[in-house]
Amino acid sequence: SIVVLGSTNWDICMYLPHLPMPGETVGSGRMQTNLGGKGANQAVACHKAGGNTQFISCIGNDATGQNILQMFNDLALPTDSIKVVEDSTGTACIFIDSNAENCIGLTPGANKWLNTEVVDQHYDDIANANVLLMQLETPPATIFHAATIAKQKNTKVILNPAPAARLNDDVFPLVDLLTPNRGELAQLAGIATDSDDGLVKACSVLIEKGVKALVVTLGRDGAFLYTPNTQQYFDAFPVMAIDTTAAGDTFNGYLTASLSQAWDFQLSIPTASAAAALSVKKRGAIPSIPERSAVSEFMDE
Ligand code: ADP
Repeated sequence: SIVVLGSTNWDICMYLPHLPMPGETVGSGRMQTNLGGKGANQAVACHKAGGNTQFISCIGNDATGQNILQMFNDLALPTDSIKVVEDSTGTACIFIDSNAENCIGLTPGANKWLNTEVVDQHYDDIANANVLLMQLETPPATIFHAATIAKQKNTKVILNPAPAARLNDDVFPLVDLLTPNRGELAQLAGIATDSDDGLVKACSVLIEKGVKALVVTLGRDGAFLYTPNTQQYFDAFPVMAIDTTAAGDTFNGYLTASLSQAWDFQLSIPTASAAAALSVKKRGAIPSIPERSAVSEFMDE
């Protein structure tokens, strides 16, 4: 089984002719609301990939939280590890102008309450899982605590270090697989990763810090596997990209589900790449995550 521990957000996107200035009201445009947060996206991807997925997350005791629970039910994602706390549901207000320039206000709300106590309430779940998947929209102390339990109990730890941030060095020895994109890797290693050389060097820095393996996602250029004895590029599947939102989340969810069956990168990276390629052909985050059957069909083509 798989435990995904992470954020749940409610995204409010407003498409406006221009971004509002301080004091200004921009009074025309359209809006779209979406279930999001890297935790929720990756949990749904993992579940759609066929993984037996438990999602540990916090939502608010508000109407949005109730709405989200219903959405998880509709997606058939089990909700018994979703905690309702006395705060607002994590919310992002995203203004997008006609040039696709955006500005975002994000209130973590309930996500702040995903603390070490919540982790302790799920000690057995983490201990009994094959894999634990986390991202960086969760407090660092929570990530460290959950990874420590996982390490003691031989549960593999996959950390998707997104959104980009620096991390305390003590977490790296607990990580079996780190899955940054180029920018996130640069941030973590403190090295530019634009060149192939830089990419390799940055990976080696993190291996020295104790990470067991890295899969770096490179957008349309595919993915790069780095372990102490392998360096290997995997091509992306060629598709017409419409919207790359949640490509990384789809990749991580599918990769985790596959690795939980067998810890085999040669099998898992192509599956994750195929799922992510299908996701960029569709708009939105969660609505763009493909079903397992569609991924298998696409790979057989
Ligand atoms: P993030 O969205 O987290 O920055 P990436 O952009 O690296 O992540 O994308 C994650 C994965 O999605 C890539 O490794 C690749 O397999 C797939 N992907 C992303 N963009 C494309 C694309 N244009 N065509 C095909 N596959 C893509």
